[in-house]
Parts: sequence; C-alpha cells; structure tokens
Amino acid sequence: MGRIIAIANQKGGVGKTTTAINLSSSLAGLGKKVLALDMDPQGNMTSGLSVNKTEVENNVYDLIIGNAEIQECVCKDVFENLDVLPSNINLSAAEIELIGVENKEYIIKGEVEKIRDNYDFIIIDCPPALSMLTINAMTTADSILVPIQCEYYALEGLSQLIHTIELVQERLNPTLKIEGVVFTMYDARTNLSLQVVENVKDNLSQNIYKTIIPRNIRLAEAPSYGMPINLYDPKSAGSESYMLLAEEVIQKGEN
Ligand code: ADP
Ligand code: MG
Repeated sequence: MGRIIAIANQKGGVGKTTTAINLSSSLAGLGKKVLALDMDPQGNMTSGLSVNKTEVENNVYDLIIGNAEIQECVCKDVFENLDVLPSNINLSAAEIELIGVENKEYIIKGEVEKIRDNYDFIIIDCPPALSMLTINAMTTADSILVPIQCEYYALEGLSQLIHTIELVQERLNPTLKIEGVVFTMYDARTNLSLQVVENVKDNLSQNIYKTIIPRNIRLAEAPSYGMPINLYDPKSAGSESYMLLAEEVIQKGEN
C-alpha cells in the first residue's frame, strides 16, 4: 500500500513544487513506483513533469466534480516508474463546486484509495493556501512534509500550518503525521541561511531532515524543460540533494 506524503506550506515560493517534483522523481529513480498528484491549480508540478496541462483529457478537477474516474485521470509512465495526476487552472473552481457537498474533505481520499495499491509512494503538491484543496490533501495523506525556505521570515506562518494540521488530526484524519521539515534554497555563502537553520532547529520540535536542499540554479531551470532534476542534470548539487532526501524518506518509512 503506497505511502502518501503531502508537501504543504501555505507560503508561496518556499520550494513545495520543486520538492514535490524532485522527490517524486528521485524516489522513482530509486526504483519505487510513484504517483505525483498535483493539487495546485497553477499546475506547476504537472508541467514540470512534462505533462501538457491544457491538453490532458482529465485532471484533478474532473475527479472532484465526478466527471471522470481516477484511472482515467492518471497519465501513466510519464517517466520510468512515475505516473502523474495532472491539474490545471480549472481546479481553482473546485472550492466553489464543493460548497455544500457532503464529506467534501474526503473526495480525493476516496478516489486515491482506489489506486493506492499500485504505488509505493504518492506525493501530493499542495497550493499555497490553507484551502479546501489543501484539506483534501491532508485527509488523503499519511504524513505532511513541510519545506522551509532559508530566509529571514522562515518561521512566519509555521505555527498556523501546524495548528491546521492539528485540527485535521483532531477532526478529519487522526493518523496524520508530520513527516518532517526540509530546508530549501540554502545558500552556503551567507550567514543568514545558517542562522535560519539554527533558529528553526531551536524552535521546532518536529523532525528535521538531515538533507538540506541548496540553492541551485539547475533546480530552477529544469521545469522549463519539463524535466525533473535527476534527468535534467543528474550530477548537479540539486539532484544529489533530492536523491539523498528520497533515501531519507524511504529509510524513515522502514523504521
Ligand atoms: P512553491 O511551490 O512553494 O511556491 P517553488 O517550488 O515553485 O515554490 O519554488 C519557487 C521558485 O524558487 C521557483 O522559481 C523555483 O524554481 C525556485 N526554486 C525552488 N527551489 C530552489 C532551489 N533549491 N534552488 C534554486 N531555485 C529554487
Ligand atoms: Mg507550488
């Protein structure tokens, strides 16, 4: 049964999508069967994995409104061991469509359960908001992985995120865990990055991944070629770090 990890942080630009794409692809590169599930209407995970978000027949929105079966929405074998459940801007209307729908917090969970056995990992990219889409990701997931950007306001909003996760645990998904925090865009040339890491370590009781993702231009370039980093530039520092993160994630599940 696949382990379901949602990549969440309501702050934009902290590296959620970059982490979702490259963790998915690195896990696939390590021989795991992976589904990358895009819950963000921006569809950056979708296009970053080379799926044409405007041309796919079905996407997460069709799933939510009951227009298609989940099997009809999955793009198979986009890369070796990696399937993609795409999204696009249509998904931004989902919030409205869900008004008054019974059990709307569990729509995605119910669908994903049908195909969970086909995968070792299901990685969900969340939108930059604590919206009904994020709640759906949190009810579906076994755990939440929180990317934290190494910048001055790193901790801002984190308590709100943790509070939301606690509410979901209390009311909707009692077995939900916080997988851990991963630092992104670490710049070894500045003291600031180091200070942020130290500060978060001092103030946060959550698990913190040993792997720190460096700021690496190749990570920013790869999506415009529709390629994950381990295929775009396998020798880059970005690729090596996401591979180490994937190994840590696998190891953590085995404990
Ligand atoms: P989010 O999904 O949280 O909004 P993204 O993953 O889209 O964040 O990242 C925001 C921007 O920063 C993107 O342009 C992305 O290419 C870039 N970026 C993310 N991680 C890195 C990194 N480690 N090094 C360099 N650029 C990065
Ligand atoms: Mg994103």
